[in-house]
Amino acid sequence: MAVMSENNQTIMSANKATAATDKLNSIAPNWLADMATAPADPVFGLMEIFRRDPRTDKINLTVGAYQDDSGQTPVLECVKRAEQQLWQRQKTKNYLPIDGLAGFNEAIPPLIFGADHEVLASGRAAAVQTPGGTAALRVVGDLLRRVLGVRKIWISNPTWANHPQIFTAADLQIQHYSYVAADCSGLDFAKLSGQLEQAEPGDAVLMHAVCHNPTGFDFSREQWQSLRELVRARRLIPVFDFAYQGFSESIETDPWPIHWFAQDLSELFICTSFSKNMGLYGERVGALTVVARSSDRLPAAISQIKSLIRTYYSTPPLQGGAIADCVLHDQELRQLWSQEVDQMRQRIQRVREQFVQRLGQSIPQRSFGYILDQRGMFSFSGLSREQAIRLREEFGVYMVESGRINIAGINDRNLERLCETIGQVVNNK
Ligand code: PMP
Repeated sequence: MAVMSENNQTIMSANKATAATDKLNSIAPNWLADMATAPADPVFGLMEIFRRDPRTDKINLTVGAYQDDSGQTPVLECVKRAEQQLWQRQKTKNYLPIDGLAGFNEAIPPLIFGADHEVLASGRAAAVQTPGGTAALRVVGDLLRRVLGVRKIWISNPTWANHPQIFTAADLQIQHYSYVAADCSGLDFAKLSGQLEQAEPGDAVLMHAVCHNPTGFDFSREQWQSLRELVRARRLIPVFDFAYQGFSESIETDPWPIHWFAQDLSELFICTSFSKNMGLYGERVGALTVVARSSDRLPAAISQIKSLIRTYYSTPPLQGGAIADCVLHDQELRQLWSQEVDQMRQRIQRVREQFVQRLGQSIPQRSFGYILDQRGMFSFSGLSREQAIRLREEFGVYMVESGRINIAGINDRNLERLCETIGQVVNNK
């Protein structure tokens, strides 16, 4: 037998490999080969880059999670105690109903409306447990589009980066209303109202009830009042994103704008999140509340919401809802929760003041007083996109490119370096 040359052997095995690939291609088409990579999420994408950054003095002010003085996002004590109770008494991990835990759902309207509002007495509000505020927003988006036939939703510019994505996915057209003044020092309410005047009857309008993300600028009472008149006059459907109850003034007073809008038998939707105020981020706990003209309109609305949910995630996760349910119903835990929310809010306010004071030393020519007017976890620093990028690339200081800073990410160990580097970038050194 002739000995095959090395060259021939290589050609033969290459031919074999091609034949094998051809055969595989005919059996298993290569659908994913040409798939383009989707753009990274503006907030979570930055988190990934932060994690990979080897610099030891890097500072993370991106993701909207509360951090304590030590830079941790803690499990609240009320949550730990609720988990202990659950460990003792939970008998099953069986599915929840499509609309979640009945006890949890019953606790939401009183949490939003307090004890005395007419909405509660008339029984014209009902809530459905959702996996976080995000799912509540998506479900209401689909309810508006697919069930109520709404075509457009008005959202602030800027807003939480996920809002346009969520409502576009729900097939709603996005219409922006301006929010901040050109110099970033507050709201431009005149411009905002002028734009909302253009809305057509039956359009939806999304409003951040408190602690506007990303700017931290909220409406004054007078502005809320005239906004309500406008929303009514234009016959718009109000949707409230309520992701920060308790982070502005208190759990009890923060829902005030919703109370105001719900008067006179008005109908509206509220998307609650327990991610921040109960620290239940990864547990995914939220609620969609429907406020109807009268209680007899609720069953149909809830039935439509349930049929939408069934095709998304079928039923909400059990554990987070059970924890929140326990905290909201147990008097002692409820009180502890309220104290813990107060502590988080007070720490953020303290850090906000320190930040403004120290920033004033680095950049004496500019006033940052407007940061003290902002509420909640975020601050619209007024830094430009270019400045935010330079801070990240040159100094390892991470913030969202809109210039949004998570104030809760500032602590005694990073304040000095943060303000010094912002100073260098703003003073263009
Ligand atoms: N709305 C706003 C304004 C938010 O900031 C967030 C969270 N970053 C959400 C909704 C969604 O929260 P959740 O994590 O509960 O889905």
